[in-house]
Amino acid sequence: MSQQHFQDIDIFDDANRIPQLGKQLEAIREAGPAFHNWFLKSGRVRAVATFDLVGLPYPTEYALFRAHSRLASPFVRITNRMLIVQFYDFENHLRTMLIGPTDVDLAGNTAYFENLSGKLPGPVADFVLKRYPTPLEHLNELGLSPEDIDYITFDHLHTQDLRRWLGTREPQPELAKAGLAPKDEPIPPMFPNAQLLIMRPEWEQFPQEHPLQQRWFQGESHAAVREDNIIALDNDVLLGPGVALVATPGHTIGNHTIVLNTSSGVWTSSENGMMPEAYDPAASSIPGLRNYSRESGFEVVLNSNTPESSGTQYNSMVKEKLIASRGGPTGEHVQHFSSSEMSPWFLAQRTGPGHIYESLREGRLVTSPRTANIPQPAL
Ligand SMILES: [Zn+2]
Repeated sequence: MSQQHFQDIDIFDDANRIPQLGKQLEAIREAGPAFHNWFLKSGRVRAVATFDLVGLPYPTEYALFRAHSRLASPFVRITNRMLIVQFYDFENHLRTMLIGPTDVDLAGNTAYFENLSGKLPGPVADFVLKRYPTPLEHLNELGLSPEDIDYITFDHLHTQDLRRWLGTREPQPELAKAGLAPKDEPIPPMFPNAQLLIMRPEWEQFPQEHPLQQRWFQGESHAAVREDNIIALDNDVLLGPGVALVATPGHTIGNHTIVLNTSSGVWTSSENGMMPEAYDPAASSIPGLRNYSRESGFEVVLNSNTPESSGTQYNSMVKEKLIASRGGPTGEHVQHFSSSEMSPWFLAQRTGPGHIYESLREGRLVTSPRTANIPQPAL
């Protein structure tokens, strides 16, 4: 495992150590505004942009927790997206990070998706699944090369197979057979200069996943990955001005949220909630969601495909809600950019979100960032 100098952030440490969920929630409510105000002053990232990777159906009972019983459609539609962020590190080097660059070819091998596609006739699968350009195609279009990428991070590892991105220690015959890896040789890393940033509990849970988790992880694939470019984090960290990784466990044990400060304020990104309304359900335009929230008194609605630790996930979503600024067309929406966001879909008319972000673009991404001589703007 590699070492790197980031700045540890201790604002949530005391809250994180409290085992009682209710007491922890109160401690998060106290620390959240302090984090937000401190982070606003940490500086801003240079640029951020988002890119669609794949659109797919997703069970309403996962996307909207128990509120699904009030909603007519058994499926909603989600769009999985990648973010590219450029920021200055503490030595003033411009760094490029990919957030959530799903290897869509290999993500389809996740047990849950294999099961789902087995149930859908080919033409139906073609109709409901929409593939957009791959992470590499997006980078190419932007004039960025895989060598330009310094960091990769995923808010959590559901569905991910990292073998082609980080390289493997041994040949991978089943991928070679499918034409996705070299024969008789380990897979070389597609991103040779990139380090994976991940919370230690997320990485160290493999290969002993719990039965509740197994349909969503590809744990066996992680055992093959080269570990020399993996940075396992033990704390919340500031990577540079305006960019932090904050532990938000619950959806998975090592889940984290990417926090960005931009000219439009503070953004959080994760898959804890699947649209801004998941963070303000009492004000949702979806009647079933609104009524469910008002009756239950719940202030967030969990993405709950794996019920690893629902109370902890609830607390983590309140943490995100307090970290993020408010924005959107009315200025009232939590600036949470869901890594897989609910999308409008004609088959889920009464379940369609009232507000989604769909894309986020601030600043201009720099091509050849490793050699570009661009002074950091005054903050
Ligand atoms: Zn997930």
